[in-house]
Amino acid sequence: MVFRRATQSARVMTFLTLLAAGCSMKDAEQAPARTEQHQATVFTVNYPLAYFAQRLAPENVNVVFPAPPDVDPAFWKPSPEAIGRFQGADLILLNGAGYARWVRHATLPKSRMVVTAKGCRDTFLPAQQTASHQHGPDGKHAHGDTAFTTWLDLRLALCQASRVREGLIQLAPASEEAIHGRFAALEHDLTQLDTRLRAVANTWRDQPMLASHPVYQYLAEAYRLRIESMHFEPGEALTPKDLRAVDALLERHPAKLMLWEAQPLPTTEQQLRNRGITIIVVDPAAQPPSDGDFLTVMTVSVERLTCATGTEACR
Ligand SMILES: [Zn+2]
Repeated sequence: MVFRRATQSARVMTFLTLLAAGCSMKDAEQAPARTEQHQATVFTVNYPLAYFAQRLAPENVNVVFPAPPDVDPAFWKPSPEAIGRFQGADLILLNGAGYARWVRHATLPKSRMVVTAKGCRDTFLPAQQTASHQHGPDGKHAHGDTAFTTWLDLRLALCQASRVREGLIQLAPASEEAIHGRFAALEHDLTQLDTRLRAVANTWRDQPMLASHPVYQYLAEAYRLRIESMHFEPGEALTPKDLRAVDALLERHPAKLMLWEAQPLPTTEQQLRNRGITIIVVDPAAQPPSDGDFLTVMTVSVERLTCATGTEACR
């Protein structure tokens, strides 16, 4: 997706605040005894991996997710300087499934690299782009053959988190026990959310659904949702051609729900509502949210899906 400009400055602020907070906390903790100790650095290609690393890492490990807040990290093209920072990291956490294509062309030190989704499944899902696939005027991007938003299957996310754990243990063997303890807490959180998501998804099981963007393949498979994707951006108005594509899709896939990565424009929401479609924002959280963290973003998505079933009171 292309991130909405309105949230851009908020994201920059959050990012800077987090950076500042992270640094000053670490500095304060380190100051008395550990000044001579090397502060290990972990670089990640997306926010979910940074979140897992932050949850699991010992105090003296600095987790850095360097993509600018206004880009989709899946399609980010880092500068040579940014690639240099990745190359210099003590641990490099990659996603796998073709995520962040730049890593194929960069020379990264294999011994310090963990491809977190590797081996978590036998095969990755195809991106399955249909004739409705389009590229917006700005921020053109193509999705390639493989679907990469792996972490929206929370069991797959847990598998990736376990690879992060192994990488961190190699990096900081003295903290092995603490890392295992932190992993148990993360495992509990992700498993609980997976159970909630599974329960609400059961309600939608046989109902056709739409998605604004081809990023929900693993969510659909894991939770057995019947999702067909368009290729729309939340901040861009739908063209007459887009609307014709929606109508054509609705003919064979009569959906009443449509997942969006972020709130679309009011006109878009109205145009979809006119077609009997309710919008549910399910933020894939590839970037840090302006408020909360990976877990709270996922929890809100589960709540929105629950709310749309009409079985529970909604906020
Ligand atoms: Zn796209």
